[in-house]
Amino acid sequence: MRFSKFYAPTTKEAPKDASLPSHVFLVRGGFVEQNGAGLYNYLPLAQRVLKKIKYVVREEMDAAGALEMTFSAVTNAELWKQSGRYAVYGKELLRFKDRKDNDFVISPTNEESAVATMRGKLNSYKDMPKNIYQINTKFRDEARPRFGILRGREFIMKDAYSFHADTQDLKREFDLMERTYSKIFTRLGLNFRAVDADSGAIGGSGSKEFMVLAKNGEDDILCCKECSYAANVEAATRAPKTTKAHLPQADADKFYTPDTKTIKDIAEFFKVDEFYTIKAVIKKAVYEDNSKIVVFFIRGNDELQDVKAQNACGALEIVDANEDEIANAGIIAGFCGPVGLKSVDFYIDNELRDNTQMICGANEKDYHFIGVSVSSFNEDRFKDLASVSAGDRCPHCGGELELSKGIEVGHIFQLGDKYSSAMNATFLDPNGKAKPYVMGCYGIGVSRLMAVMIEQSHDDRGCVWKKECAPFDAVIVLSNFKDERASQYANELYESAKNAGIDVLFDDRNERFGVKMNDYELIGCPFAIVVGKGLENGKVEFIERNELIKIEIEAKDALGMLKERLC
Ligand code: ATP
Ligand code: MG
Repeated sequence: MRFSKFYAPTTKEAPKDASLPSHVFLVRGGFVEQNGAGLYNYLPLAQRVLKKIKYVVREEMDAAGALEMTFSAVTNAELWKQSGRYAVYGKELLRFKDRKDNDFVISPTNEESAVATMRGKLNSYKDMPKNIYQINTKFRDEARPRFGILRGREFIMKDAYSFHADTQDLKREFDLMERTYSKIFTRLGLNFRAVDADSGAIGGSGSKEFMVLAKNGEDDILCCKECSYAANVEAATRAPKTTKAHLPQADADKFYTPDTKTIKDIAEFFKVDEFYTIKAVIKKAVYEDNSKIVVFFIRGNDELQDVKAQNACGALEIVDANEDEIANAGIIAGFCGPVGLKSVDFYIDNELRDNTQMICGANEKDYHFIGVSVSSFNEDRFKDLASVSAGDRCPHCGGELELSKGIEVGHIFQLGDKYSSAMNATFLDPNGKAKPYVMGCYGIGVSRLMAVMIEQSHDDRGCVWKKECAPFDAVIVLSNFKDERASQYANELYESAKNAGIDVLFDDRNERFGVKMNDYELIGCPFAIVVGKGLENGKVEFIERNELIKIEIEAKDALGMLKERLC
């Protein structure tokens, strides 16, 4: 490709709201341009990168036996009504009507479409397993689209859906997809971890996220220093917390504790470690058509994990409750405890189960209970609620957990029969009995990956692409457009590089050398050959973008060097 014929509108200006390198360099490098909040056009450079990412994704999915197809991006809302998600998906689901007043959605994910495709066609256990996938546009009306294409509203996803006759076969496919994803992200040159994850709005049981470790990541992940355990903070568990502080000794009693509203106050008042106190976190749980106050009891020195809290009470969302709402629910803020609490729903963290000598609010202004045993509560009140943090102990080996930031690039789910049951999609098992399909689903953020690669690989001048996904393998920079000899050599090199199968950009523009080199560094292809004055002595410059290493080489060796470095 000749740069003079190409379209890569590079600019010195970074978008005003751009705080992340990937956002800055993809816009400045002329890869993408913004078209509205969370909406981006992929310009020719981006298209080339996406094509290479898709190639790797396709090659590995195909090798794993998955079958590519394409669902229409616009989905009949009827399918979403059948699954029950039309009502609960929230504002991220873009809903609209067609000219005949029928409801439609632009798919944020395609479980419904996948079930509808197979329903009535995969009729026997003998027709399974099947794994279908697509690489297609998704739309989620995100509340805060940000960071360029990392969190867009419209984005490209690879989504796959598998159908099985039983859970065992689903587990086999899930493991195969985990291995396939590891191959994909390894080939793409990413530093990633597969972590235990919450299943979110997609639902089902058992899911893993693929997280690229990056300091600008939005997700908190906990990794064990000793073993392979790793989990998103939303799903992380730990070996139960312990303390060296001595257990207080007191008979069960109610105590006058004026002005002791916080855990710190109460620990100081009784001179006990916060470990032996119970904290009440009061929230408003939002459901499909109502909301209510729910109290979550956790250890005094723990924090509530919102996603765990949301799962505990099955809410669509957990939000802060205001003072009036708390008072109207009959709660005495600052003195709320599980013993004798009648007016509201409440849950207790698993780790508090059977603890003795605890201190908690007495549900009466200025009073706390001491010597409390957390034992006489109904079993369904106990849930995993506490947030795991750095320094906590690994649930598998007891090693120390450390916190890292990650960007989610993939998510694999064991859905089970959630969608097939709701949508009445069944097959006949070997005994002739109708059963709902057992399903898995598997997503990869294809457009997000392009940004993630830059987050992991850039310097202060621009992108640093790895060979696998660079928009071009190499750039030939003709330093002076008017130098006929250099021009002739560069043209010949360009032609022979093309013939050798090298994806090469020939910067033949009538631009200053400085402009060309700035563009080379900003766009960030792995190698460049600079053809300039040195050619008089038979020399050209070979540049490696990664460390910006520049060496002078014999002009006649340039093609060989490129071939060698690209293989
Ligand atoms: P996130 O937690 O980042 O919002 P998610 O868990 O909602 O993502 P999934 O439903 O698991 O996303 O979608 C599969 C993949 O699609 C994700 O792993 C991610 O890489 C990508 N993805 C999701 N939302 C976006 C978005 N708004 N912009 C770009 N890529 C996205
Ligand atoms: Mg996810």
